Amino acid sequence: MQITVHRGLNQIGGCITEIATSSSRVFIDMGENLLGSQEQLTEEQKQALLENLFNANKRTHEAVLYTHGHSDHVGMMSYVPDSVCQYMSQGTKDLLLMKEEVIRKGLDLEKASFQNCDGDNSFKYKEWCKKMESNQLFVDRLNACKTWKRLYAAPQFLHIGDIIVTPLFVSHSVFDAYMFLIEAAGKRILYTGDYRNHGYFGKSLIPVLDKYAGQVDILITEGTMLSRDGKVKSEYVVFQQMKTAMKKFKYVWILTSATNVERLAAICNAVKSTKQLLVVCSELMYMTLQYFRSVQDKRISKFFDINPYMLSPTKPSAKLIKYMTDRGFVMLVGAGHYERIKDIMQSFNPEETLLIYSAWDGYYKLSKQIEQNSGYSQVRSLFTNIVDIHTSGHADRHTIENVIKKVCPREAIIGIHKEANSTLCSLNLPEELKNKIIPDKLQLDYISVK
Ligand SMILES: [Zn+2]
Ligand SMILES: [Zn+2]
Repeated sequence: MQITVHRGLNQIGGCITEIATSSSRVFIDMGENLLGSQEQLTEEQKQALLENLFNANKRTHEAVLYTHGHSDHVGMMSYVPDSVCQYMSQGTKDLLLMKEEVIRKGLDLEKASFQNCDGDNSFKYKEWCKKMESNQLFVDRLNACKTWKRLYAAPQFLHIGDIIVTPLFVSHSVFDAYMFLIEAAGKRILYTGDYRNHGYFGKSLIPVLDKYAGQVDILITEGTMLSRDGKVKSEYVVFQQMKTAMKKFKYVWILTSATNVERLAAICNAVKSTKQLLVVCSELMYMTLQYFRSVQDKRISKFFDINPYMLSPTKPSAKLIKYMTDRGFVMLVGAGHYERIKDIMQSFNPEETLLIYSAWDGYYKLSKQIEQNSGYSQVRSLFTNIVDIHTSGHADRHTIENVIKKVCPREAIIGIHKEANSTLCSLNLPEELKNKIIPDKLQLDYISVK
């Protein structure tokens, strides 16, 4: 059995890990490098990278498995040869398809602006065609993706040749994320993907490991928060802080992600308890809210038992503005809504207006991030009253320690999805477990860490 970490040892995201027996192999995640943090590859470079991966080391049975739908884990799925089967959770597939549908609608609208261009040769038109093509390719790949059942169902087993994979549900900052227990050539490997225990659904982390994983031979864990000390805020505290902020201001705008189910749950909960009017500016967010409401599992759908008002893209009527002015509101917005927010917000008293920034602060603090996507800092620039209410989607140091102790790996512990200068060796662990941590750039019999 061979484990190869192709990418992700010294960077957060862009993860690609391969686990192979003599007849079969699985790749876990095919992530895109994060914008602004890592080298951005050209289309040709991505193509070449994946061609090399799939042409080397070929096996009779091959598959790609995705832990969750963030682009640093699924971003390169379009480049996977279509002869290779790909798997993801049903929730991941549904959300990614919704996202692509909204992108497609945006592209269709953009098409009208090419009518005055000088035909097919215009640069903008070519760029647009490229975007259309990659949207279509991604949708085709998503449609072909096999899925396993949604949340909390008893784990299913996926068989890829002689490799058995059990997806185990985890709490993360996106809907329907999973860890994988992989059984191959007599070894049991736990691949955590991105996870945490401080979300609404995080409490099941250790019981799930207890019940389905037990002791493993090898653990591959994420280490995003390794260089950050202290305990992180729970999603429940996020809810309480949101509630307090909503009580203080009449017009509350919240900048957040459309796919972060637990954050949206915290917001909806706060809206319900303050009896505010919930208005949604983002079409994708409106779709995901409806979707979460329809999820079979009551533990999720109960948070979304609320009727948000979808603000149409055209300028709101005077009657609607008057209603919103009198009633007050909580408005959900995304980073791409700068122009719309600017347009509408003039109608409301700035002193009674608050922006709750509920996303990673690096998006507006780091110059490299702003260069790639200025939406977050632009939206912030429109407001005088701003409060940051957010918590990480990743396990803190203490949680990683607990996971390591719980699965007590017999042979090796590998840290991925972590900063270049951070290491699992800095954790507070018994010496016998510390000795099992594989240093980066080391090759063992069956584990190669590049
Ligand atoms: Zn990630
Ligand atoms: Zn993630």
